[in-house]
Amino acid sequence: MDINRERLMNDLKDLGAIGYIEGEGASRMAYSQAFFQGRDLVKARMEAAGLSTAIDAVGNLTGLLPSATGKSKKKIAIGSHIDTVPKGGIYDGALGVLAAIEVIRVLRENGYANDHPIEVIAFNEEEGNVIGGTFGSKAFAGAPLEGSMIQPMGRQNISEADFASCKRPAEDYLAYLEYHIEQGGILEASQKTIGIVQGIFGILRYRARVTGMANHAGSTPMSLRDDALEKTCCVITDLMDRVRASGDTMVCTVGTMALQPGAVNVIPGQTEFIIELRDKTMPGMYQVIEELCAQWEEKGLSLEPYITQPETLCDSQLCALAQETAQALKLPYMKMYSGAGHDLINASFLMPALLLFIPSRSGISHHMDEYSSPEDIRAGAHVLLELLKKIDKGRFKHED
Ligand SMILES: [Zn+2]
Repeated sequence: MDINRERLMNDLKDLGAIGYIEGEGASRMAYSQAFFQGRDLVKARMEAAGLSTAIDAVGNLTGLLPSATGKSKKKIAIGSHIDTVPKGGIYDGALGVLAAIEVIRVLRENGYANDHPIEVIAFNEEEGNVIGGTFGSKAFAGAPLEGSMIQPMGRQNISEADFASCKRPAEDYLAYLEYHIEQGGILEASQKTIGIVQGIFGILRYRARVTGMANHAGSTPMSLRDDALEKTCCVITDLMDRVRASGDTMVCTVGTMALQPGAVNVIPGQTEFIIELRDKTMPGMYQVIEELCAQWEEKGLSLEPYITQPETLCDSQLCALAQETAQALKLPYMKMYSGAGHDLINASFLMPALLLFIPSRSGISHHMDEYSSPEDIRAGAHVLLELLKKIDKGRFKHED
């Protein structure tokens, strides 16, 4: 059994053409006309593959292949998303959904008798440009509704009851598999075809403020200044040094800053900026922040946490099975972490989950130059196919 590479590539091109503008990329933001057109295409391909389809109240599309042998009621879910960022690429999300459909086609063509029902999921609004990041899978997993989502939900005629109605029961599911492009350059640089993702980085964000003293830019000598921006530069340099010293996985970004009062002839009296940290576990990040505060608090730094998103761990048994699968297929693979968030974060609240990556050329994503080679695409789908069969035939035991 193997993936039909041309058929999968054609699906990617067909979906990718919807909302695509030459020189710009693909724009299929959730709830847009192009999104609905794309979802219609995916739904039709699901049905042609023999799946019975359904769409829930937030717009997640599912396609179900019932168990052929009737041996189990627990579904194996394979999914990703089919919305895009504005002017995005054609692989992000779409790959995981279309490869899942291709896997079903291959299983059926080969007369495979599945013990478990298999559900292909095309999540909606993963990108978060319309309502909020991973909105569709949040509803699917029954994650708490975030206040910032309510107004934009209203604009799409989605009520809180609609959101709640999408929650699936955990006991219906055995495992979730997501196949996605890496969106970074680690696999390419390491010359590996398959990334077996051990987990998704946790995120900490703080609103930071450094206070100094605003004063006249001409009449205040350097020795009498308390320049908030100058101090901020030292704070950020110190922060980055601490992050680099902490190991090679933690990343840190200061991507926005505002100065008060913000005039060319006034020494900055205050800076406000956001510190974002990501790492595979949380304690190292908390330690960096603690040390930073100890060093700078008395000199005017204050921090207020506003986003704490714990790391997500992929299921270790599924990771081991994926490793075994890649080895058997003689594909170069590596274990890695994902710095980007995915629908898997929510799916993993419901069931054990695994994320598989293939290389993104030059690490580019969310851009029309996003590209993964047809051979890598086939290889990843092949791993998905063989892994699914292992799980289906009892190689994965779900301990409740
Ligand atoms: Zn994605």
